[in-house]
Amino acid sequence: MSDEGSKTPSNFIKHIIEEDIKNNKNEGKVQTRFPPEPNGYLHIGHAKSICLNFGVAAEYNGLCNLRFDDTNPSKEESEYVQSIIEDVRWLGFDWAERQYYASDYFEKLYEYAVQLIKEGKAFVCDLSSDEIREYRGTLTEPGRESPFRNRSVEENLDLFERMKNGEFEDGSKTLRAKIDMTSGNINMRDPVFYRIQRATHHRTGDTWCIYPMYDYAHCVSDSIERITHSLCTLEFEDHRPLYDWFLNELDVFHPQQIEFARLNLTYTLMSKRKLLRLVEEGHVNGWDDPRMPTISGLRRRGYTPESIRNFCDRIGVAKADSTVDMALLEYCIREDLNKSAMRVMSVLNPLKVVITNYPENQTDELDAVNNPEDPEAGTRKVPFSKVIYIEKDDFMEDPPKKFFRLAPGREVRLRYAYFITCTDVIKDDQTGESVELHCTYDSETRGGDSSDGRKVKATLHWVSAEHALDVDVRLYNNLFTVENPETGDELTEFINPDSLQVLTSCKVEPALAGASPGSRFQFERLGYFCVDPDSSPDLPVFNRTVTLRDTWAKIKKAQK
Ligand code: ATP
Ligand code: MG
Repeated sequence: MSDEGSKTPSNFIKHIIEEDIKNNKNEGKVQTRFPPEPNGYLHIGHAKSICLNFGVAAEYNGLCNLRFDDTNPSKEESEYVQSIIEDVRWLGFDWAERQYYASDYFEKLYEYAVQLIKEGKAFVCDLSSDEIREYRGTLTEPGRESPFRNRSVEENLDLFERMKNGEFEDGSKTLRAKIDMTSGNINMRDPVFYRIQRATHHRTGDTWCIYPMYDYAHCVSDSIERITHSLCTLEFEDHRPLYDWFLNELDVFHPQQIEFARLNLTYTLMSKRKLLRLVEEGHVNGWDDPRMPTISGLRRRGYTPESIRNFCDRIGVAKADSTVDMALLEYCIREDLNKSAMRVMSVLNPLKVVITNYPENQTDELDAVNNPEDPEAGTRKVPFSKVIYIEKDDFMEDPPKKFFRLAPGREVRLRYAYFITCTDVIKDDQTGESVELHCTYDSETRGGDSSDGRKVKATLHWVSAEHALDVDVRLYNNLFTVENPETGDELTEFINPDSLQVLTSCKVEPALAGASPGSRFQFERLGYFCVDPDSSPDLPVFNRTVTLRDTWAKIKKAQK
């Protein structure tokens, strides 16, 4: 990784690891894993877990595995496996040959289950799932023991083998751990850890019709991989006793589970199940829709891996749940693109301007700075001619006091070009809308400076009409209208109907011809944009990644 060796801020997990190293626990080794279930695309919450797991491993000379927790064949697909591999790699992490699958361990998991049965610690139960729930009790009431709890070891071994061999209907039997139906922790009330499910697995096909449950598969997989620190999110805190129980009873290598708070972000959702619904119900155009909080959505939106890693460093790792402001994520990408993105001029809502005193058929090649933050980026030529476009918003026929941009009789600067003065406004007869401006230019101001020290209050971006490329631009807003969409009765209650705005016939300077999908630019005064994969040479398509800080919007707000 590019910034390997660089230290991330300290946190309670790093303290635990440092203590363990000091005490030579696990011979001072650090081994972590990132364990996604391949039932959807990764989101920015997963990025937090990825950065944490790969980050601490790198920092303490350890290793981090990529492990697919694929124990639920009905929801898992190879498409998701591929997308996860692509996303973790794109974020900048490497797991070498250590790409594992819980399904690699199905045989071993089965053997361990047989061991637990032999030791009288597990039994085959015939209760239906509804009955199991009924017997389980509640937070205030103890559960009741299953009538099948005291089957003999021989009977359990026979039944479990026949479960595996497909002799029983789906759901008709389960394998349960024999722990304690009166435990204050419901997870310890004889939890089911194998179920019968005839579903084709994306890797093992139809080899198995019984599948291990997460709580069992996860701790055993961690143990097999000799994970030293098993980092997971807070909702697993109540599952830790069960994690420990299995490993203690099996008497195998025992990783330490440590829980941290999951990332929540304002104005979006962080659950694969709900994100899948947004995709399936067509509220977005797929998992990689630039409005989605998925890694693939953020990538398409124009986010860089660096910006996401920086974001994860900034939010830190804590033990208490919290919600991070989306503005912080946006801050991180602005900060990154400010350093690296080439500046160009582009007009999103064009207003035609004719420079009446500029010669016909003449083109000026003006020098423009590619990136003021990066001297190495150099300059480019921008063509200027008699007819140009400026932004509709940059002209007002009857401007209020604080509007300093173009207005009748007023002089402004065209960036890198000339001072111009508006002399005439041509209007649409029907609507009264200004459709064309006539301006004069001062040839003495070439490059954007007057020789007589004359000042103007505004500098506008512009594009030469003759040289402009026509492009589509997609502007994005939050997918939801409220900070916490989870408060809605329905997933879609707070969906933002204006989250996507498509502008057609936008004008960009010719330097953008042939820009490849994924390349990123700052459109001066408008924000950061990147080329969408939908782009073609005939019709380039740009996504707005994020706006610049828009001072004019603030002024307008203050005026209201
Ligand atoms: P989801 O609720 O989105 O379906 P999940 O926890 O079921 O998420 P997994 O594929 O099981 O998804 O997650 C892989 C790893 O990423 C787990 O260790 C999980 O704890 C972690 N993770 C998932 N969501 C977040 C989040 N919002 N913040 C931090 N870590 C997360
Ligand atoms: Mg999960």
